[in-house]
Amino acid sequence: MQIAMIAISATGSVHPERAGPGFQQAAFASRNQAIDSLPSLALLTLAGMTPPEHTCRYIEVRSEHDFEELPRDVELVCLSSYSAQIHLAYAVARHYRELGIPTVIGGPHVSCLPEEAATHCDAVAIGEGETCWHAILEDAAAKSLKQFYGSLNATFDMRNAVMPAYELLDHDNGYARITLETSRGCPHRCEFCASSVLLAQKYKQKPIDKVLAEVDRIKECWPRPFLELADDNTFVNRKYWMKLLPELKKRKVRWFAEADIRLGNDPELLDMLAESGCKEVLIGFESTSPGHLDGLELRADWKSKQRLDPREAVTTIQKHGIMVVGCFVFGLDSQDTDIFDDVYKFVCDTHIYDVQMTLLTPFPGTPLYDRLQREGRLLKENAWERCTLFDINFMPKNMSVETLTEAFANLAVRVFDDEFTAARRRELRRQIVAFRRSRRG
Ligand code: SF4
Repeated sequence: MQIAMIAISATGSVHPERAGPGFQQAAFASRNQAIDSLPSLALLTLAGMTPPEHTCRYIEVRSEHDFEELPRDVELVCLSSYSAQIHLAYAVARHYRELGIPTVIGGPHVSCLPEEAATHCDAVAIGEGETCWHAILEDAAAKSLKQFYGSLNATFDMRNAVMPAYELLDHDNGYARITLETSRGCPHRCEFCASSVLLAQKYKQKPIDKVLAEVDRIKECWPRPFLELADDNTFVNRKYWMKLLPELKKRKVRWFAEADIRLGNDPELLDMLAESGCKEVLIGFESTSPGHLDGLELRADWKSKQRLDPREAVTTIQKHGIMVVGCFVFGLDSQDTDIFDDVYKFVCDTHIYDVQMTLLTPFPGTPLYDRLQREGRLLKENAWERCTLFDINFMPKNMSVETLTEAFANLAVRVFDDEFTAARRRELRRQIVAFRRSRRG
């Protein structure tokens, strides 16, 4: 079979004209563009699993304008999309349905809402795609696709992970970063989290030799790659990283990962990370005070129990030459309007390299969505196009929708201001140089 693997790009894309002028500043745009241009690792992985009698093509769709260019000489279309762009994914499926070409769709959104997806697509892959891809291929080749495959309870053993088909990517496409996965899931369960915790019930890791083989493969395709680890919480297993980092160092790559605040308490690991080419870590601080985090993590209230001061964590990590992108979520029930000035002060005090500010977003399948629905606080049911992280779809507790919208947009103007960003980064460079000098004695 000829198979089109179609990624709906612009995953969590903000609409700058809607969100406000702060989101048009360079400091915000650069991170947003990096996220938007990430290739779909899920589709590349399924392509890597596909037996050689089939041929896969990898295509990215950004809008309905791209439909003209979509190939028609295929026998199966495989789609992957996040919530914000799900309507575009469904439109692609309907486009192929009119042509009589079967479609299958997967990902966290449709895994939580398979019945919705089945009204647009011929088949829905629920849960981790690897657990059902071969069955889908066999049925598609026999022209007997079923409506549903997989399950949220089916578990893929990462010891069986295959090499993603990186060679399918168009090297002229200017990918700023290439994605690679070392783990799946997270030991924690935050109420709003819509990441791989929705698909992987337990935290699991890929064997080190497989990770290194993927790095080597990426380096064959791109001589100086910048890797974006697609993990949700990368350094959970310290022993694993102590073994992997010296090997990564030999490969001379630059890379980015998502971590948690404990990293700020581990100078030995920070030294090894810096030496291995780790340039940036994203940390979900979520808010400025531990009191705001009460009850946010549902298993053990882990987030509110962390005793390390977030300011100290940022300073320690950045002194090691690793830039911190701090994530803050606005609209938590525990926050009031002080949060906007508090975050600005945090950014000033820490000289944090970058900030990812988002609005609390009820994604389907999350405990947050269920709770807000129960409490009658969703503004619009099934409004997945609002799952951009920059659009409000709930009634906040301690402020109005209008206040949250305006104050969020105003803070973005201040935080992403070009001069403010440049001054912060200058001071940050000065601190790194001073730290290095102090260590040399
Ligand atoms: S720590 Fe991060 S990845 Fe883990 S559940 Fe919370 S938000 Fe999700």
